[in-house]
Amino acid sequence: MYPAPIRNVVSAFKRLPSVGERTAERFVFSLLKSGKKDVAGLIIALKGLMETIVSCEVCWDFSDQSPCALCADTTRDGKTICVVAQPQDLHAIEKTGVYRGTYHVLRGVLVPENPDSLRETMRRLLSRLENDAVSEVVLALNPDMPGETTARFIERELERRLSALKVSRLARGLPMGSDIQYADELTLSSAFKHRVS
Ligand SMILES: [Zn+2]
Repeated sequence: MYPAPIRNVVSAFKRLPSVGERTAERFVFSLLKSGKKDVAGLIIALKGLMETIVSCEVCWDFSDQSPCALCADTTRDGKTICVVAQPQDLHAIEKTGVYRGTYHVLRGVLVPENPDSLRETMRRLLSRLENDAVSEVVLALNPDMPGETTARFIERELERRLSALKVSRLARGLPMGSDIQYADELTLSSAFKHRVS
């Protein structure tokens, strides 16, 4: 059995998505084999993550300031909010350059076994919609089952509470089961431009 400090880091890496026991072990031994130079670099990088990154109080994206640079940018169109599941989706849409509104990051999708999984993010979104002059919400969720279920849930909630609000979705074109953050820029920008309500 490995010494406890090695086991601890292996189990920390294993908590990351797509990392199994063997990959976690490879990471740890690669760090150690660098003569601990990479360990020092990782500690500094993680410290920066821990001490500098905060949640934007408006859109709930991760940022080094709150409100984040995008929410603080007065040239953005505050009347449109694009709802995404993950921070990486926001960055994929930004790269296309087609969208000039603001965002709301759910940080997850509706989990059927846990109906409360979206409660906090929905509360934040609704309070934004009730307080700001928003006319359109674009649901930019992955075209897969969890994304669909989440989009339908949000649509129902918004219709029930704010019937005058326009709710649109990205146009078809993104293949079913695909991931927004990995979509090519052309497909994503076209899905955005031809969004449907
Ligand atoms: Zn923000």
